[in-house]
Amino acid sequence: MKECLLCDRPLKLIKFKSAEGYVCKQCYEKVSLNFTQTIKNQTKAELLSTLENTEEANDSVSFEITRKINQYILFDDKHQQLCLPNHKKYTKDELKPEVYPFSAIVNCQIDEEQVEKVVKKKKQALGCIKVTLVLQEEDQISRDIWLIPNLISTSSMPYKTMRSLAQNIVQEVERSKQEVAVC
Ligand SMILES: [Zn+2]
Repeated sequence: MKECLLCDRPLKLIKFKSAEGYVCKQCYEKVSLNFTQTIKNQTKAELLSTLENTEEANDSVSFEITRKINQYILFDDKHQQLCLPNHKKYTKDELKPEVYPFSAIVNCQIDEEQVEKVVKKKKQALGCIKVTLVLQEEDQISRDIWLIPNLISTSSMPYKTMRSLAQNIVQEVERSKQEVAVC
């Protein structure tokens, strides 16, 4: 049986071809930078150096989830950092997951947009909800977490649930900001 070019484990059914041999799935995940790059033309030496770099990078951004609000935002109180998973359906943008230290938090607030519309001959209040988080590292950036991206009735159950979830996010972010102030 053949072995992985990089870790010497026996190769299973799923293997990936590089310039000098096959790579197992675990190694491929790392050297392809999470399946974003092909390795077809890369030599063993090149792949090994990528592997080392990703392992170092993983060490420096180790993230331990100590609090979280669904998949909207994750907190690591041990290392005082937060992670925005930036799922596409919540950001309306193509963003990779991001990690920021608590000390970068500038502001966090709920933004609700409400309109009145006539639906089925009845006047209805409709609204959207997002949480806007402002962070400052080298530059100031703003990130939106959309809880209700499209207008729905403000008296509906999902709207109320999402509004309290949004309040929850703001509270937890504020709490993180205060943790820094204490230190
Ligand atoms: Zn391997």
